Amino acid sequence: MFSKILIANRGEIAVRIIKTCRRMGIKTVQVYSEADAGSLAVEMADEAVLIGPAPAAQSYLLADKIVEAVRQTGAQAVHPGFGFLSENAGFARRLRDEGIAFIGPNPEAIEAMGDKISSKKLAAEAGVSTVPGHMGLIETPEEAVKIANQIGYPIMIKASAGGGGKGIRVAHSDADMAEGFAAVKAEALNAFGDDRVFLEKFIIDPRHIEIQVLGDKHGHVVHLFERECSIQRRNQKVIEEAPSPLLDEATRAAMGAQAVALAQAVNYDSAGTVEFVAGQDKSFFFLEMNTRLQVEHPVTELITGVDLVEQMIRSAWGEALAFEQKDLSINGWAIESRIYAEDPYRGFLPSIGRLVRYEQPEEGDQGDYTVRNDSGVREGDEISMFYDPMIAKLCAWGETRKDAVTGMARALEDTHLSGLGHNVPFLAAVMDQERFKSGNLSTSYIKDEFPDGFHGLRPTVEQERILIASALAMHEVIAEQDGDPSDRTDWIVMIDKTPHGVGLSYDEDEEMILTLTGGGDIRLSDIDWRPGLAQFKAELDGEAFTAEVKRVADGFDIRHRAVRARVRVLRPHVAELYARLPEKAVADTSKLVLSPMPGLVVSIPVVVGQEVKTGETVAIIEAMKMQNILKAERDGVVKAVGAKDGDPVAADDVLVEFG
Ligand code: ADP
Ligand code: ADP
Ligand code: MG
Repeated sequence: MFSKILIANRGEIAVRIIKTCRRMGIKTVQVYSEADAGSLAVEMADEAVLIGPAPAAQSYLLADKIVEAVRQTGAQAVHPGFGFLSENAGFARRLRDEGIAFIGPNPEAIEAMGDKISSKKLAAEAGVSTVPGHMGLIETPEEAVKIANQIGYPIMIKASAGGGGKGIRVAHSDADMAEGFAAVKAEALNAFGDDRVFLEKFIIDPRHIEIQVLGDKHGHVVHLFERECSIQRRNQKVIEEAPSPLLDEATRAAMGAQAVALAQAVNYDSAGTVEFVAGQDKSFFFLEMNTRLQVEHPVTELITGVDLVEQMIRSAWGEALAFEQKDLSINGWAIESRIYAEDPYRGFLPSIGRLVRYEQPEEGDQGDYTVRNDSGVREGDEISMFYDPMIAKLCAWGETRKDAVTGMARALEDTHLSGLGHNVPFLAAVMDQERFKSGNLSTSYIKDEFPDGFHGLRPTVEQERILIASALAMHEVIAEQDGDPSDRTDWIVMIDKTPHGVGLSYDEDEEMILTLTGGGDIRLSDIDWRPGLAQFKAELDGEAFTAEVKRVADGFDIRHRAVRARVRVLRPHVAELYARLPEKAVADTSKLVLSPMPGLVVSIPVVVGQEVKTGETVAIIEAMKMQNILKAERDGVVKAVGAKDGDPVAADDVLVEFG
């Protein structure tokens, strides 16, 4: 077996490859750009080699630099991960010529599947079902319109060299076609340096289902069943699962057999993926073959028990597959959520910056579900603008799809990130939707379910109980800490503008019992929170939950899954006053010094009781390598200090309060 492998990639996939190499007793070399010098992958690898500045074109995409690093370290093989040089036949060929093993398929197979037009032709010859369309080259918009009328609208316009959801457009009319054809041609030339475009029928309300294949250098090819990746935004996958809720045994076997036939037709000898678009009627058509490890490969590993990176390494070394098709079976259900640095509340805008806080769910067996979290970053790391904005791939496995969905929802609750925008609340929303739970998927799911963008979900009755109980419990903890435990037993908890009457008592085990005026008792136990913590954990009637919490001037901002609310705990007479306040009453924040951004407290040079004059420094916050000095805006006496040196703080956290 190889004794040393070089990883020509970065981030989570580099970390994931290193883990398998370690298990196999293989040493690793990590190449890195200047932006990644302090990365987790560099820390984990046995050796690391700097290959250039941050932009990929000056580092991760330079074959010369990679080959040089191989020579310098004595590595015997290169794993390219995905993206970058992974589907570059020239790179694979160059390594072969230099006597270095490429941990991926042979260059001829990469080439054969490299563009969508030739791979579709090859697929048709191998007996694979393909989307009806026109395979010839089309030069002008007029020609495109003419051919479109023969095929019939709607039609997908595709760049032959396309990938990553780029170079794709749907046309519903001649006007769409004329315009879209020119646009895709221009985009393709720009993005891929290749302006060949073809047309195919747009499959209405389709699902994306793909087959994982695995081959060796001895002519064996097996498939490891399917993954469904229909939850997409702009043709990019967001949530994937295995198996697919759509398929029955016969369709699965037919798709598997076609994928294997195609792989055999090109002497495929590594891990690869044959992508299909499927109709709701289970008809299916070939889209493309990706000749590399796929981002969503972990869900296949979770249901088959096969480590695909290990298999790629073994087949690159020349080992024959140690199992046959009949040895493989599907065990349970797995779901993957891609956690991206993007702000779902702001139209999914990319949101780069420092991961001020990063709490990850516990991996492994959690009882009804199992968690796997493939992450390439640590708390304190920067998500850079130079690369893919993926922070982690969170996977949950369960014996049934229901267990996997429930497990994913829980694992997302236990994922806490701050410092940048992230899509965890959005992913949580999907897990809580009845349509997703029912498995009724489509590539238009996100467009259908969130037509006006994402604004969070409204709380269910169960979630209202979680919001009420969390707020009241935190209120009690704070009161106790302030040496001001109240003897009050009746409270009004306001969720945004809706009041809920609550009676509070404790049972013999000192557990909180909340009696809702609206009916019903809640028992809150195992409370795990103290002031300053951003996660509130407890069990509500025996069910564990986690909420993200932030103390604000007049209450708490609480997020549970996809629900966000301002929750206030008030005495009934105060609540009455609140009710009479004019709409949009803004809290008086003039006595507060709030953190202007997420960051770390460098120092708070004032103490309770101190007299402070206008212009005096009251806090210094560091964020994105810059220090921000906050000064008193008026004279006053410090009533409270909300954080101490070294604390991470979120935007709007109270740093200092004046009396
Ligand atoms: P597909 O569905 O076509 O396989 P993926 O979602 O797997 O697409 O990835 C989209 C494209 O972006 C692929 O070409 C993949 O190689 C690339 N890519 C995705 N994530 C990364 C990453 N972290 N680093 C580099 N390239 C990536
Ligand atoms: P890429 O190389 O960018 O991954 P694909 O050909 O795999 O391009 O298509 C990306 C996505 O676009 C698919 O997952 C599917 O959602 C959608 N798509 C592609 N072709 C069709 C089609 N003919 N009909 C309907 N949807 C399609
Ligand atoms: Mg694709």
